[in-house]
Amino acid sequence: MPDSQVILRFCGAARTVTGSCFWVRSGQSSFLVDCGLFQGSKTLKELNYRPFPFDPKRIDFVLLTHAHIDHAGLLPRLIKEGFAGPVYMTEGTKDLLTFMLPDSGHIQEIEVEHLNERKRQWDVPAVEPIYTRADAEDAIRRFETIAYETWIEPADGVRARFWNAGHILGSASIELELSCGREQRVLRILFSGDIGPEHKLFHADPKAPENFDYVVMESTYGGRTRTKASPEHRRMLLAQEVKQALRADGVLLIPAFAVERTQELLCDLIRLQESGGIPRVPVFLDSPLAIQVTKVFESHIGELEDLGGRKSLLHNPAIVPTLTADESKRINGFSGSAIIMAASGMCEAGRIRHHLKHWLWRREATVLLAGFQAQGTLGRILADGASEVKIQGTEIAVRATIRQTDLYTGHADRDELVAWICGRQPIKRAVYLTHGEDNDIDALREAIAAAGLDKGRIIAPVLDDEIELTGEGPMPRARTAPRRLDPEVVGRPDWHNELAQISLDIKSQLDMAADDRSRNIILRRLRRALE
Ligand SMILES: [Zn+2]
Repeated sequence: MPDSQVILRFCGAARTVTGSCFWVRSGQSSFLVDCGLFQGSKTLKELNYRPFPFDPKRIDFVLLTHAHIDHAGLLPRLIKEGFAGPVYMTEGTKDLLTFMLPDSGHIQEIEVEHLNERKRQWDVPAVEPIYTRADAEDAIRRFETIAYETWIEPADGVRARFWNAGHILGSASIELELSCGREQRVLRILFSGDIGPEHKLFHADPKAPENFDYVVMESTYGGRTRTKASPEHRRMLLAQEVKQALRADGVLLIPAFAVERTQELLCDLIRLQESGGIPRVPVFLDSPLAIQVTKVFESHIGELEDLGGRKSLLHNPAIVPTLTADESKRINGFSGSAIIMAASGMCEAGRIRHHLKHWLWRREATVLLAGFQAQGTLGRILADGASEVKIQGTEIAVRATIRQTDLYTGHADRDELVAWICGRQPIKRAVYLTHGEDNDIDALREAIAAAGLDKGRIIAPVLDDEIELTGEGPMPRARTAPRRLDPEVVGRPDWHNELAQISLDIKSQLDMAADDRSRNIILRRLRRALE
């Protein structure tokens, strides 16, 4: 590759919301912006086991936008496979990752253990975890913290500056200046990272400079406008949900993202209990990670807004943090109304799955989904109204009330994303829409074009697209290796999801059939269809 070229490859979060990873080669240096884990369907998650599309040993450094696992979750694997350079991030991001990455390693170990048990039964070779808790602890030693709004020069001809993106504690948009071309012209590029909404609890509105050649931006809520609520209105709506759920000794389960969502909900629940807006029932915080992360928040309390002078969220008589597995198990023995918050937010892992197993089939329970639910996740399946689900191999009827709220979100909605990109103008060459599912990307593209940006220069790349960024405009590059996944299957439910759905549908048809004779007819027809 000639010294003067700048090449960008979309190694993740292309037409899907997970696996954020952008590989940039600029002159002599080669670096990544984010190195995230793929989540969602099994097909997508398999990418976490496949070789990286680059040689980790030849990556010089990583710039990390924020601590969410879909942005940082493959860093331990990158390091395990020979990456030897620094990873630059803000202090808030590092403090969060100190707990989040080992937790992610632990989840990988447990998942692989379950998987290998099944593989042994089928006589199929065992698999290794993507990385372990120990690998994650090693990775953290490689992390370097930097301040917001201060230029760093991680390599010759590469300058970077982090701006507060208002998404979660420590989150950043990253401004880059790269020397390109024989005349060493400076290319200005902005990676949005995840962009927070306006008036978000705890954070100021997102901040970033203007005047770029290229902008790579997220589109998570590109197709949606959210209920805009003042803090009082938001608490009132939450109070309605809680009161409805707790009536007649009901139990409210909140699958909560350990970072931000848990702290936001804790903050509002405490306020509502103190003001008499909701009953003073115990609030179990049943997630070791969420408890640790809440402590990280408390250590950054000086940088956070809207805490009403509070120094702690955990030191409150109604909040019951349950760290150990024994404490967690004891929650099931508790009688009477309660609120149970547990990770993960999309019900994919963590203690929430045990609580769902225990409560989903009971009418007195309500599940409040409080955040984005990606395609193929259990949270999405519940949100879409499934009448039966499978958890750890057990089929469970869904009789609990399923509710969803978009009041608490870390993401800007369509109007806010449009305002954000308009604030970055002029953008001379192209805008790349990433980190969104198809519908959201298409809607955001229309909305940005309607706001006056040239539609021809708003591009939605697919996984493994590679582009040369020049001072005149983008130049697509010929592929040297096949794409890791067919763009058609990225960000959609895969055959595993379909199979699970079909077997649940068959079972419910058989259950509903009038008698065994009708059941035998259904089974005969199915058998015929298979032949
Ligand atoms: Zn994020």
